[in-house]
Amino acid sequence: MVKLLDEHERTLAFAEVAMGQIKSLRQTAVPRNYEIWYVYATGYNAPLNKIINETLARNGRLSEADLEQIYETYLSHIKTSDRIDKVGARVIGEIDDVMTLITEALGMSASYDASLSGASQKLSTAQSPDQVKAVIEQLVKSTREMRDTNKALENRLSLSKNEISNLQHSLEAIRAESLTDPLTGLGNRKYFDRSIEMAVQAAQANGEPLSLMMFDIDHFKSFNDSYGHLTGDQVLRLVGMSLKQTIKGQDITARYGGEEFAVVLPNTALRQALTVADHIRRAVMAKELKKKSTGEILGRVTISVGVSMLKAGDDTDSLIERADACLYAAKRNGRNRVICEVDPEYAADQRSQVA
Ligand code: GH3
Ligand code: MG
Ligand code: MG
Repeated sequence: MVKLLDEHERTLAFAEVAMGQIKSLRQTAVPRNYEIWYVYATGYNAPLNKIINETLARNGRLSEADLEQIYETYLSHIKTSDRIDKVGARVIGEIDDVMTLITEALGMSASYDASLSGASQKLSTAQSPDQVKAVIEQLVKSTREMRDTNKALENRLSLSKNEISNLQHSLEAIRAESLTDPLTGLGNRKYFDRSIEMAVQAAQANGEPLSLMMFDIDHFKSFNDSYGHLTGDQVLRLVGMSLKQTIKGQDITARYGGEEFAVVLPNTALRQALTVADHIRRAVMAKELKKKSTGEILGRVTISVGVSMLKAGDDTDSLIERADACLYAAKRNGRNRVICEVDPEYAADQRSQVA
């Protein structure tokens, strides 16, 4: 009951912030706007907060078009492929419009060319000042028309340029989102699969070392059972944050699945990788978990880590399998520790599995 009440209060606080924003910005209180502001209040979707803050700083308000664009880009639950289709259709529409304009402008330019040749001929045979005057008037008229067409084309092209640049940003956001784990903001499994493949190929091509670290939160099921799934999610977020703070540069971090994370360390030999792994283990363990709403101390979580290093004849799968087997050995040997493939615990574990 205490747990339910906590969730009730926490979510109610977000709801109140959302309603407050809708009221103070005098927006319609439709579900879409409520969802945008609710997510804004939680702070979980950093890109959404960033775009809202930037737009408000620039314009002091969010227009209907802004809200629509923000919802479509950052919150819409429509499948990514459908959203790509939608943006793609808008790109095609934009190109069609521009093509029509260019065709019209080309036609205009051809008739202007014809009127110039006609004028030149008429001038060479003109007999009186009146005839010359008529030719010149005609020329001025067609030049003005040409200038107007060019101006219209220029304006339309400049609008198109903006629209295409917006579409480009939408596509980039969709692409980034499709590779990001929404809960932790780390790369997702798809991102991991792609990145490790490329990193292994590069290491093999350049003869450089590469290590892989996989870790899993200890006894997370009982944590979830005691404090609820939402609090469990907060812990996952916290672990993700510890990981981001510890890892830098070219290292590739991802949520591998559930409560399991992976880090690819290019140009890193086993010894250095072990140091990094222990650093992360300590960083996670150092954080005392506290429930924001009540200040209740929930204790700490620990992680078990397995580390492997790329060797001759390896491929991505065998590298992952060894890191995973080391992680399993770390669990069997008491958890809250780092095990690598040269540790006796790993060897013993391998032997006991064969036996
Ligand atoms: P071990 O130390 O052996 O890893 O024990 P464990 O309890 O962590 O392992 P187990 O695989 O039995 O349980 C994993 C649990 O992680 C199951 C589920 O409750 C939790 N979990 C997985 N994904 C999520 C998630 O996205 N959110 C939350 N809150 N919990 C998750
Ligand atoms: Mg676990
Ligand atoms: Mg697990």
